Amino acid sequence: MKKYVYFFGRGRAEGKAEMKALLGGKGANLAEMTNISLPVPAGFTISTEVCTHYYANKRSYPRSLAGEVKAALKKVELGMKAKFGDPKNPLLVSVRSGARASMPGMMDTILNLGLNDVVAAGLVKRTGNPRFVYDSYRRFVQMYGDVVLGLKPVHKDEIDPFELIIEAKKKQRGVHLDTDLSAEDMVDLVGLFKKAIKEKTGHDFPEDPMAQLWGALSAVFGSWMNDRAIAYRRMYDIPEWWGTAVNVQSMVFGNMGETSGTGVAFTRDAATGANEFYGEYLMNAQGEDVVAGIRTPLPISELAVKNPVIYKQLNKIRLTLEKHYRDMMDIEFTIQDGTLYMLQCRVGKRTAFAAIKIAVDMVGEKLISDKEALQRIEPDQLNQLLRPVFDLKEKEIAVKSGRLLAKGLNAGPGAATGRVVFNAPDAEAWKKKGELVVLTRIETSPEDIKGMDAAEGILTARGGMTSHAALVARQMGKVCVAGCSELEIDYATHTMRVRGKVVREGDWISLDGTTGEVLEGKVATKPSEVLQVLIDKTLDAKDAPVYQQYARIMGWADRYRRLKIRTNADQPDQSLNAVAFGAEGIGLCRTEHMFFGEGKIGPMREMILADTVDPRKAALARLLPLQRKDFEGIFEAMDGRPVTIRTIDPPLHEFVPHEEPAQRQLAKQMGISYEKVHQRVEGLHEFNPMLGFRGCRLGIIFPEITEMQSRAIFEAAANIQARGIKVEPEIMIPLVGNVKELADQAGIVRRVAAEVMKEKGTKFKYLVGTMIEVPRGALTADEIATVAEFFSFGTNDLTQTTLGVSRDDAARFLIPYVEKEIYPKDPFEVLDQVGVGQLMKMAIDKGRGVNPDLKVGICGEHGGEPSSVEFCHRINQNYVSCSPFRVPIARLAAARAALADAPAKGSKKRAGKKAPRRKR
Ligand code: ADP
Ligand code: MG
Ligand code: MG
Repeated sequence: MKKYVYFFGRGRAEGKAEMKALLGGKGANLAEMTNISLPVPAGFTISTEVCTHYYANKRSYPRSLAGEVKAALKKVELGMKAKFGDPKNPLLVSVRSGARASMPGMMDTILNLGLNDVVAAGLVKRTGNPRFVYDSYRRFVQMYGDVVLGLKPVHKDEIDPFELIIEAKKKQRGVHLDTDLSAEDMVDLVGLFKKAIKEKTGHDFPEDPMAQLWGALSAVFGSWMNDRAIAYRRMYDIPEWWGTAVNVQSMVFGNMGETSGTGVAFTRDAATGANEFYGEYLMNAQGEDVVAGIRTPLPISELAVKNPVIYKQLNKIRLTLEKHYRDMMDIEFTIQDGTLYMLQCRVGKRTAFAAIKIAVDMVGEKLISDKEALQRIEPDQLNQLLRPVFDLKEKEIAVKSGRLLAKGLNAGPGAATGRVVFNAPDAEAWKKKGELVVLTRIETSPEDIKGMDAAEGILTARGGMTSHAALVARQMGKVCVAGCSELEIDYATHTMRVRGKVVREGDWISLDGTTGEVLEGKVATKPSEVLQVLIDKTLDAKDAPVYQQYARIMGWADRYRRLKIRTNADQPDQSLNAVAFGAEGIGLCRTEHMFFGEGKIGPMREMILADTVDPRKAALARLLPLQRKDFEGIFEAMDGRPVTIRTIDPPLHEFVPHEEPAQRQLAKQMGISYEKVHQRVEGLHEFNPMLGFRGCRLGIIFPEITEMQSRAIFEAAANIQARGIKVEPEIMIPLVGNVKELADQAGIVRRVAAEVMKEKGTKFKYLVGTMIEVPRGALTADEIATVAEFFSFGTNDLTQTTLGVSRDDAARFLIPYVEKEIYPKDPFEVLDQVGVGQLMKMAIDKGRGVNPDLKVGICGEHGGEPSSVEFCHRINQNYVSCSPFRVPIARLAAARAALADAPAKGSKKRAGKKAPRRKR
C-alpha cells in the first residue's frame, strides 16, 4: 500500500530534505531539521501525491489516508504527551500548506486547531492563563473562518471582517494593541466571530476537533487551485501537477506571555548579502504577527541583549544550518516560555545584490565551489545590478527642498519613480495604460501579487523587513520601502497624509529602496555601479564593491561557458559598451540603421526612388564613402573581434517619406516632380511587407546595392587593416530560403572582395554566410551550407514565419494565448524550442552534415534570454548574439548551461538542483 503520511518528531523523521517533491519544501525541511537534532515540534506531512489524487478524483482522498492520519496523530500525541480533543490535556496543531517550491503566503496556515469551548475551558484550567487560551482561540476561529469557511474581504478597498470586529472591540475598550485586550474581551471576540461566520456564510463553526482537522486539510488542498496560487505559479513557472503537501504540527505558543515570543530571520542579510544575522521578533506573539505588521517587531540584535541565552542558541542553529545546507537560510522560530523551537527553514530569497555577494562570499568561505556559485545566480538577476540608482546630488537637492516625505525600511534596493496608486488592480490597470506606478498599501497580501509585479516600486506603511511586501519585492527584484509608519493611508479616498502633506492617487513619488527614503515628485536617476565602472568610467573598480563581485562572477562564467557571446550593435559606441560587458564580437550589425545617419537618408531615398540603373548607381556612389566610414568605425571599435554585417534587409518603403511636405522637398532635391515622387512611394506599398520585397530579394533585384555595401565593407577592412588592426568581416545575407538566392549574393560579395584586394594590393580574411529565418532555409540547410560559411538564426523572423504569426499584430491574441497556456511564454521573447527550436536543430544537423566547420549563431532577441541561450548551447551553436545590456546575462546563462550538461561529478546536490531548472 502506498505511503501518504510521513511523521517527524523526537529526533527522527521519515522524510528528509531531498524529498521536496513528495513532502513539499516545508515538510522536507521540517524532517531534515528534526534529523539534525534541532528542536522541532512533532508533526506529520501529508504528501503531494494526496493533492494529485484529490484533483484527479473529484476532490476526494485515497481510501487509506484517514487511517494513516489517525496513526500519525497518535504518534504526535505520544511525543507531546497530550491528546487531540481532550479537554483535560489537549493537543493543538497547526495545519500548514507547503508546496515543492516555496510560494510565500500563497496558501494559508491555520493555527491552534483543536480548540472549542470545552477544550478551551480545559486548557484554562491546565495553564491557568485564560488570556493566552482565549487569544489562541479567537485567532483560531478567525483563521478558520477566513481560510476554511471563506469569510474574507470581497472588494479591494474592504477591510477584513474580523479585523472590523477587533477594531470595534478595541475602540470600545479604548485600547490600541491587540495585546491590550483582556481575556474577557477575547472570549467576546470568539463569540462575535462565530456569529459573523454564521451570519455571513450560513455555516456553523465546527466544534468537533476531528471535523476541524479535515475541514482544514481540504481547505489547504483546495487552495492549490485558488486564483492567487494559480497566478503565482504562472509567474514563477511552477507546474500545476506538482501539488502541495500539508503539514500537521503540534503547536508551540509564542503568545503565552512575556517569556514567549516568535520571530523570523535570515542567516545573512537578504537585502545586502552581508554575513550578519538578520531578523525580527516579537514577544508575546504568535505566527504571522511578526510579518503582518500589526505591531512593529524588534530587530534580532535586540534579542541578544534582552535574552542572551535564547539568542546564543539561535545563533548556534544559524551556523549549523548554514554549514548543513551550505546556503543562506530563512528561518521561523518560536519561544514558548523560555524554550526555543524551530518551525521552518528554507533557502532564503534574496536580492540580486545579495545573491551575488553571498555566492561570492561562500566561495571565499569554502562553503561552495565557483560552479555552485554560478548555479545560484539566475541570469536575469543581473538585470538588477545594471538598473539605475538615484543621482545622489539630485536626491540631496530634493531632500534639502523639503521633499523627503518619510523614511521606511530599505526592503528592496534600487531607485524607482512612479505615480501613486493605492491598490493592486489599479496598479495593473495603470501599467496597462503605459503609466509608471508605485503601489502604495498599508500592507500587502498575496492578493496583490499581480499589482506588485506591475509596479516600479512598492511602498507600505506597516510590516518589517520580512513582511510580505519585502519578501515578494525582493524576489521580483522590485524596489520596496516597507514599514513606513508615518504614512496615513486612506483607501477609501485614495489619498495618504504624511508630515502635513497630502499625496493623492496619480501624484509622482520616488522611492529609494536602498535607504528607505520616500520622496515627493520625480528624482533623477543615475547608472548603476557596474555601469559607472564599465561604461561611463566615472568610478574606479576598487571603489566599487558591487562591481567587484559582478566581475568575479563573470570571470567564473567565462571559465566554464562554451558558447561565445556576441552583441547586436551598429554604432561604434554601442559596440564599445558591449565589449565592456564582455562581448566577443558583433553577431548582427544592421546596416539599415546606418542609412538614417548624418547625410545618408537623402542619397538613400534617391537610390530607392530612382527609376533606372544610372541614377541609382549615382546615389549609391554617394552613399559608398559614408557607409565605408561607418564600417571603419565599427571595425576600429571591435579591435580585431569578428563582425557580422547584414546586407540591407527591410522593405524599402521604410526609408521613404510618406507625408506630402517631405515628399515635395525630396522632389525638389532630386529635380523631379512631386507627383512622380508620390507615385513611386505609392508604388512601394505592399500588403504584407514582412513577406514582401525585402531581405536578399532587394539585393537580387538591385545587385548594385549589395555591390556598394560589399565594397564599403571591404574597403573599410583594407583601410583598418593597413593601420595594423585585425579585421574579420562576416557578410550575412538575410532571408535566404533557397540556395540559389545565397549563391547569387555570395557571388557578388566574393567578386567585390577580390576586386578590392587587387585594387588595394592586400589580402584580408572574410566569411560569407546567411541568416536562417524562413522555414525553407532550415529545411534545405544542407544545400545552403554548400555556399554558406556560417548560419545565424534570425529567430524573430523565424518565429513569425514558423508560427505564421505576425509579431507586429500578435499582441491581441498572444497575451491571451499565454494566459491560456497555449504557448508557455511569448514565443517572441522565449524561444519556442519545440517548434522553432526543432527547425534550428535540423538546420544545424543538415548544415554541418555537408560542412562540418559551419559556424552557427543566433542573432534574434532570444540570444539574450536565459532559457533560449541554454537551448542554443544544447544544440551546439558556436555563439549567441544579443543587445549590449544582455551580454552579461548571456555569459552567465551560457556558463550555467555548460555546467548543467557537464556530468555532475559526485555532487548529489547538483543533480537535484538541475531538475527544476529544466522545467522553465
Ligand atoms: P507560511 O508558509 O505562510 O510561512 P507557515 O505554515 O509557515 O505559513 O505558518 C504561518 C505562521 O504560523 C508562521 O509564523 C509559523 O511559524 C507559525 N506556525 C506554524 N505552525 C506553528 C506551530 N505548530 N506552532 C507555532 N507556530 C506555528
Ligand atoms: Mg501564510
Ligand atoms: Mg512560514
